[in-house]
Parts: sequence; C-alpha cells; structure tokens
Amino acid sequence: MQNLAILGSTGSIGQSTLDVVARHPDKYNVIALTANKRLDTLVEQAAVCLPKYIVCCDENDVSTLKELVSARGIPVEVLGGKSALIDVSCSSEVDTVMAAIVGAAGLQPTYAAVCSGKKVLLANKESLVMSGQLFMDAVKKHDAQLLPVDSEHNAIFQCLPIDAKNPKQDVSKILLTGSGGPFLNRDLATFDDITPAQACKHPNWSMGQKISVDSATMMNKGLEFVEAKWLFQSVADIEILIHPQSIIHSMVQYNDGSVLAQMGRPDMRTPIAHTLAYPERIASGVAALDFSEIAQLTFCPPDFERFPCLKLAIEASGSGQAATTAMNAANEVAVEAFLQSDIRFTQISDFVRETTEQFAHSEVLNIEDVVELDLVARTFTQEKMRSRAC
Ligand code: NAD
Ligand code: MG
Repeated sequence: MQNLAILGSTGSIGQSTLDVVARHPDKYNVIALTANKRLDTLVEQAAVCLPKYIVCCDENDVSTLKELVSARGIPVEVLGGKSALIDVSCSSEVDTVMAAIVGAAGLQPTYAAVCSGKKVLLANKESLVMSGQLFMDAVKKHDAQLLPVDSEHNAIFQCLPIDAKNPKQDVSKILLTGSGGPFLNRDLATFDDITPAQACKHPNWSMGQKISVDSATMMNKGLEFVEAKWLFQSVADIEILIHPQSIIHSMVQYNDGSVLAQMGRPDMRTPIAHTLAYPERIASGVAALDFSEIAQLTFCPPDFERFPCLKLAIEASGSGQAATTAMNAANEVAVEAFLQSDIRFTQISDFVRETTEQFAHSEVLNIEDVVELDLVARTFTQEKMRSRAC
C-alpha cells in the first residue's frame, strides 16, 4: 500500500489522480487531501476516499469545513493554513506526495515533501521553475524520488534509457513538443481582442484556468523548457517543437539516429498512473490510441513573434535563478489580471518582460530568498499594472 497526500486535490490534476487511485483500492491509501476554496468538492472527495486529514489553505475556512464534514458524518480530521499543508506533505504517515497545487503556492509544501525524502509526483512545474538548483539539490540531499507528471517530462522520462550510467553519451537531443495552443493559427492582428474564454479553450487538453492561459501564450512551454532543463539538462540539449495534435508527448533522439517517442491520448491520467505505479504499470482508465482514427501527425518550429512569452522564458533560463523566479511571479499576476479582464492578452508578455528584467540579477541563495523575491516581483508587477491603468 502506498500512502498518498494529494496537494490540490480539487483541481484538474487532483481529480484525475483520484480517478486513477479509485481504480486501485488495493494499492493506494489516501491519507490527506488539500484544497484552496472549493470546500464542497473537497468534502465530496473526502466522503468517497475517507482520508485521515483534509486541509483547507485558509484557516478561516476550518470551522465551515468542520461543519460540512460533521453534517455528513465523515470521520476526518480538518486542518487549515499553510503550515498544515506543509505538515501533511512531511507527515511520516505519507509515502507519496502528488504536488498538484497551481502556481507559486505549491512551492513550500512541495519543497517540504522533497526535504522529507518523499516520493514526489511533480505536476506543480512552477515550484521547480522558481527554485531550480535549490530544489534539485534538496532532492539529492534528502534522497527524495522525483517523478515528473507534466506529460512532456513524463514522456521524456519514459523515453530515456533505464539505468544508463552515463546517458549523455547516447542521447543527442531532447525534443520537447507542444500543441501551440488555441492561437497557433489565429491572425496575429487580432491578438488584442482575445478573451479569457477563448484563451481557456484548449484544442486538446482540459486543464485548470492558469495553465490554459499559459498554453495560449505558450508560457507553459517556456515554463516546461525551464523544468526540462532542471530535470534533464545533464542528459542533452532541449529543442522545442510544435506538434498540434498532442499525440506525441515528447521525444528523445539517440546518437545512432533512433528517436523514441511516447504517445497516447491527451489525458493526464496516463502520466499520473505512470508516476504512481513507477516502475510498474497500472490501468489508468485511458483508452488506447486508435491509429486508424489519427489523420495525421504534423510538426513545425515555434514562432517567437506570435509567442513572445516562450522566448522570454528561454532567455530567462539562461540568465539564472532570479530571472525565472521573477518571470514566474509576473506571469501569475499577469495571467490573473487577464482572466479578470484587467489587461489584454498581448500585455501579459509586456509585464513579464519588465519584471524579469528588473529582478534578473537579484541574489537567491535559499528558499526564503525565493519566496521573498516572488513576493517583491508580484508587488512590482501589480504596481506597473496600476500605473498603466491610470
Ligand atoms: P487547477 O487550477 O485545476 O487546480 C489547482 C489546485 O490547487 C486546486 O486544488 C486548488 O484548490 C489548489 N490551489 C489553488 N491556489 C492555492 C493556494 N493559494 N494554496 C493552496 N492550494 C491552492 O490546476 P491544474 O490544472 O490541476 O494544475 C495544477 C498544477 O499542475 C499546475 O502547476 C499546472 O501547471 C500543472 N499541470 C497541469 C496539467 C493539466 O492538465 N491540468 C498538466 C501538466 C501540469
Ligand atoms: Mg505539459
């Protein structure tokens, strides 16, 4: 039995994780579920999988949550606040932590799970983008097992040689694929008119709002480039390739000319099941690909004029830790403002650029510095937005 904590259980990844887990009651035992605001969904989930703890992020919600579970007679301990999130991530009752909180809010609990030597299933790419080397050093120091859930990174992980002592000698390139999102072919002259609803309507994947907007700007691929660098840069260079059908989830090219691709339907239950069961395989509920149904697989290079956020992220990854921490913070603020219709779609990259440039040379020596820089960069971005609105 693997004892699980699912951070962000009410989100898209959290719900897909529970779907996979429910198929294998003999293998997985849910110890803790955590959520931000969707308390009703959290209570429904608790009623089904009977965890030991449920955690709401806002301490002010604890009494409401307690009432909700006692009204339903659900025998669960209710905890609240950021420290409770960290407590369940580190708990000795937990073996495996699914890190599926969205954004910077996931950093501290995910980092705490790493520092407790857990098996960490990493969906929360922002935590690695924010803290890169510190995060990877902690994985090593605390002997944690880090398994990538992000479909591309999971695909790369699956295509890399198992137990290769020095894969660098054999792997010539990593091909990180991306669909190009909903605006791959939209007339550039109309980008100012893009609405939040249009940006959230991804052609292939069903995801939370923030990552959907990131996919539309292709900042998601930029964050994934940084994520891939931290996970795989010791192996080979990384090249981004547009593949609109999202059937191939990424590829690894070898020196002898072989290219290994991981393929499947665009359904996150596949990489989730892979990480949960690794090194074994379990059923995920995802149907097999039907190749006779797939009309074509196409590819093209990314267009940086159309997707300036992608270029910004690639540049930031070469500038060091502070640049990607600040970039991530600015992006979260800008995406939220776009979702509230406070800024235009095309302004997201402007705010991200300004903030990244402002803080690119800040010093980041530990996780406290990362958290501090994240806050300062957010404030800076918000102030820029206010001054622009005046
Ligand atoms: P989502 O918005 O659907 O869910 C986010 C979860 O985080 C929710 O449970 C929410 O309650 C929780 N949360 C939000 N703010 C919080 C806060 N301040 N403190 C604590 N918890 C908070 O997001 P998602 O699409 O499931 O994405 C989750 C993570 O997985 C993101 O980092 C995303 O980039 C990554 N990811 C998602 C997908 C996907 O298909 N959805 C694919 C790859 C990677
Ligand atoms: Mg991805």
